[in-house]
Amino acid sequence: MGEIGHFLNGERVPGTSGRYGDVFNPATGQVEATVPFASRDEIALAVRQAGQAQPAWAGTSPQRRARVLMEFVGLLQRDMDKLATCLSREHGKTLPDARGDIQRGLEVVEFCIGAPHLLKGEYTDSAGRGIDMYSMRQPLGVVTGITPFNFPAMIPMWKFAPALACGNAFILKPSERDPTVPVMLAELMVEAGLPTGVLQVVHGDKIAVDALLEHDGVQAVGFVGSTPIAEFIYAQGCAAGKRVQCFGGAKNHMIVMPDADLDQAADALVGAGFGAAGERCMAISVAVPVGEQTADALVERLLPRVESLQVGPYTAGESIDYGPLVTGAARDRVLALVESGVEQGAELVVDGRGFSLQGYEEGFFVGPHLFDRVTTSMDIYKEEIFGPVLSTVRAKSYEQALGIAMDNQYGNGTAIFTRDGDTARDFAHRINIGMVGVNVPIPVPLAYHTFGGWKKSAFGDLNQHGPDAFRFYTRTKTVTARWPSGIREGAVLNFPTIE
Ligand code: NAD
Repeated sequence: MGEIGHFLNGERVPGTSGRYGDVFNPATGQVEATVPFASRDEIALAVRQAGQAQPAWAGTSPQRRARVLMEFVGLLQRDMDKLATCLSREHGKTLPDARGDIQRGLEVVEFCIGAPHLLKGEYTDSAGRGIDMYSMRQPLGVVTGITPFNFPAMIPMWKFAPALACGNAFILKPSERDPTVPVMLAELMVEAGLPTGVLQVVHGDKIAVDALLEHDGVQAVGFVGSTPIAEFIYAQGCAAGKRVQCFGGAKNHMIVMPDADLDQAADALVGAGFGAAGERCMAISVAVPVGEQTADALVERLLPRVESLQVGPYTAGESIDYGPLVTGAARDRVLALVESGVEQGAELVVDGRGFSLQGYEEGFFVGPHLFDRVTTSMDIYKEEIFGPVLSTVRAKSYEQALGIAMDNQYGNGTAIFTRDGDTARDFAHRINIGMVGVNVPIPVPLAYHTFGGWKKSAFGDLNQHGPDAFRFYTRTKTVTARWPSGIREGAVLNFPTIE
């Protein structure tokens, strides 16, 4: 069985800590590789090497840095099938979904090719007599990104592409559950012309993350993962004086108004609820139909659609709707939450318990579940399930539906399905959630906008990708310049003001 090494100074190196994790093929349940968990010494080495490589990279013109990203896009397209197959094998998602994971990362890389424009500073001619003033965006130095299992290509690219385009060196600590694709991406960056040491990949668990958070050589931390860890990393990173942005978990509601096209709404709910086995931070996990009639008609439409979902391994091809969960522990957690839903009185309309796939009995598959008459006090409502489970919470009115979504602790994404423009507009204005879809179930903004939630779904001031990423990965320096011809004789002791 192979070891997926760290990627330091341009090459894969085995771990030296003696601590390892197992990497599974979730479809078969078999361990396929081991991943080393970095020690504090290995983290210190990664930061040192990155620190040595960063000044020359920062000194490379933005246009030349952008050209590396341009070359990288071509290599991603060349290796798309290889990357997608590897991603599906370690994560479990279907091949088309794996390609989407890579594609949405690639689009952020394309946006970052515009770095020369995005890094342009500001200039004021003659701000005072003989005085010019200009500001520039400079890289922070060595920065790090800690990323989750559910998008092992997209989220690493969301992090390292803008950071590198700005002239930083980047240390990626990907999820230990599907770590191969992040290393392949780093290899492709070097093939594209990135100097070695500028992009490092270290694997690991809390020990590696704590070492990164405490290291004086790390200037900024970008995290994506579950809310408890996001909160912890935000607090630790800020206390250590670093720039930090952390994106956490979600519970995304879709409000279905009585005037909505219910077939469209049902299709949207099935796609957004069960795609990637529900392992998406933008998955819709709660449907909120408004009015009993709407609810009855919606559940009636959902039932056959959910029952007919095809669950299987990525190798079965296009006929599969979703694959296994990432680990046996994830499967067991989801099934325990389903049991709690039944015990707490929710109506299990589609029961996926006991699902088993011939030839893949050891795989981490979970059948599709649909709950009706869920209340906001139940655990299946309060917890982020992160599995193929859709809950229906019935609301009496639009105001009640809005209130349910607003009272939820999470604020990542939401959607409303309606034909009424007034209602849609009111919803978009009043809802306290960061990303809103109007008849769009998964409103993930494109690369040139920014991505980020509110409430317990995000910690920090700036969003991911788009212009915010260039703000996060740079700091502004402002220069006030006057040349001898503009300087008057004599010392000025008053605080300077413009005359
Ligand atoms: P996770 O929090 O378990 O892990 C995320 C990262 O943190 C991994 O690299 C992991 O190694 C590390 N980590 C885990 N425990 C740690 C600890 N105690 N101390 C320090 N580091 C630790 O999340 P996950 O299960 O990999 O990903 C799923 C979660 O991510 C879901 O909650 C999902 O909603 C969320 N997510 C959020 C967004 C977003 O943009 N808001 C995007 C994708 C996923």
